[in-house]
Amino acid sequence: MKKLIWAVLFMFVLAIVLIPAVINWPAANHDMERGLLNEYAGKPLTVNVYISARKKTVAMPLEEYLIGVVAAEMPANFETEALKAQAVAARTYTIRRMLMVDPDLHPGTQGAKLCDRPTHCQAWFSSEELKKKWGMFKYPLYIYKIKKAVQETKGKVLVYNNQLADPVYHGSCGGAGTEKSGNVWKYDIPYLQAVKCQWDDLTKPGLINKTTVSVKEFAALLNLPGKVEAIIPLLKNGIYSKNKRLISVKSGSEVISGNAFRTKLGLASSVFSWEIKGDKVTFTTKGKGHGVGMCQYGANGMAKAGKNYREILAYYYKGTQISSLVKFGPK
Ligand SMILES: [Zn+2]
Ligand SMILES: [Zn+2]
Repeated sequence: MKKLIWAVLFMFVLAIVLIPAVINWPAANHDMERGLLNEYAGKPLTVNVYISARKKTVAMPLEEYLIGVVAAEMPANFETEALKAQAVAARTYTIRRMLMVDPDLHPGTQGAKLCDRPTHCQAWFSSEELKKKWGMFKYPLYIYKIKKAVQETKGKVLVYNNQLADPVYHGSCGGAGTEKSGNVWKYDIPYLQAVKCQWDDLTKPGLINKTTVSVKEFAALLNLPGKVEAIIPLLKNGIYSKNKRLISVKSGSEVISGNAFRTKLGLASSVFSWEIKGDKVTFTTKGKGHGVGMCQYGANGMAKAGKNYREILAYYYKGTQISSLVKFGPK
């Protein structure tokens, strides 16, 4: 009888501890739940980040780490609501990586879950790097803005269907609108679909770029014969999306995605026009990055038009919700 009372009492205590966790956490992902329960064991919520320049892994409190990420990933002179949208995207991405058990993406780094390389994880700058980047006068102003954006969204993540979303983003869609993920990568994700974006001001520096490559270089990068005659049909017969973004080109029997094409040729965007003069091909690109998910310039434009971070995220990631991780780890 005594045993039974203890068992009931134990279940009762367990329910008090676990029920809030279940309510506040998007369930249905085994790794995620395991991560949550580990954090509930009382360890502080810290992120192990591999810092390339120092060649070492540093443990940082999550919210502090996010300040360095937002500062590195979005211009600090952007509107606060855009910075807040960025903070939620960065936090969601970070938690996804933290809860990833397999594969180990950073072997030999003493358990780093993320690194500071933007091409691999997400960029992160230390305060010393930020002082250099912004200068001593702008540093206090910018760091205040970014800290505020992170603090005002503390513990907020983006979820879809009760699971953490994959909130990919890019610099600028070039005014073409964002792209359906299936047109850029192998997988089509329901919340990463094309949306219109009228906020990219192409008169801003860096949004229209010209890249010139020689016919020889072009041909070598795409395994083509080094002749203009081989390049013109490749570009003319390319498949372009409704937004005029290059989806794929065919080089012989090989199909190359527009995104891979952009990377190979070092183009800022796969929305472009092209021109061949003599033995040179010149691309004029609009925007920056792959074009999927949130457009950062668009987010800034929406914020200027009075939209808040929730509206910005709901616009670029259709069907997602903002969920709270306040119960995740100690307060
Ligand atoms: Zn990494
Ligand atoms: Zn845009």
